[in-house]
Amino acid sequence: MSIAVNLNTIKNSLPSTVELVAVSKTKPIEDISEAYEAGQRVFGENKVQELQVKHPALPKDIEWHMIGHLQSNKVKYIAPFVSLIHGVDSFKLLKEINKQGKKNDRIIKVLLQFHIATEQTKFGFSQLEVEEILKTEDFQNLNHISISGVMGMASNTEDKTQVRKEFNQLKEIFNRLKNNYFQNHSDFKEISSGMSGDYQIAIKNGSTLVRIGSSIFGARNYANH
Ligand SMILES: *Cc1c(COP(=O)(O)O)cnc(C)c1O
Repeated sequence: MSIAVNLNTIKNSLPSTVELVAVSKTKPIEDISEAYEAGQRVFGENKVQELQVKHPALPKDIEWHMIGHLQSNKVKYIAPFVSLIHGVDSFKLLKEINKQGKKNDRIIKVLLQFHIATEQTKFGFSQLEVEEILKTEDFQNLNHISISGVMGMASNTEDKTQVRKEFNQLKEIFNRLKNNYFQNHSDFKEISSGMSGDYQIAIKNGSTLVRIGSSIFGARNYANH
């Protein structure tokens, strides 16, 4: 199957409320161009170095999403152009993104990542940690970031009941934060959940942004991506 066919099959299956982030990590420019030609404009990458190479080589109307774990010292490299940073998991990182937003005279959209899986290896806040941060004056002074919602990764398991439970938990966190902290903040509307193996479950449980890689571009070559 070609990239364009895969892409259109998935796109046509999504409800209109759900946006597709085509996860192009490890894939060459030619593959991204093929998806672009087929109409895709939103791409997700998980490495700053790859974004630095791919961004200048591809059309300027692509929206680049950083979906991986981001180190504070690398924010400066993507701050001028990144459209959305999905995996924000510390106050330190929020402050650094704000600082780089200010330097670049822009407001950078971010999602707060929550730890919903059973595996310890996955990153993310707990709800309590985030509420502590949101209450601080330090946070309220961050004018160069816009919190646009939440992101989470479910456990890597065949147990669909478990996966459903975790996505549902993310939706509940979103609702609670929306009601208690972001009621008048129109940007706070995204739930980034679901990948190739579980996006259908995610969509049934509130997802507005699905991050799909291998079902579009084929399997990746190395196991650590
Ligand atoms: C790689 C990756 C994806 C896409 O995974 P697939 O299983 O290939 O669809 C989604 N989200 C994150 C955070 C990733 O790192």
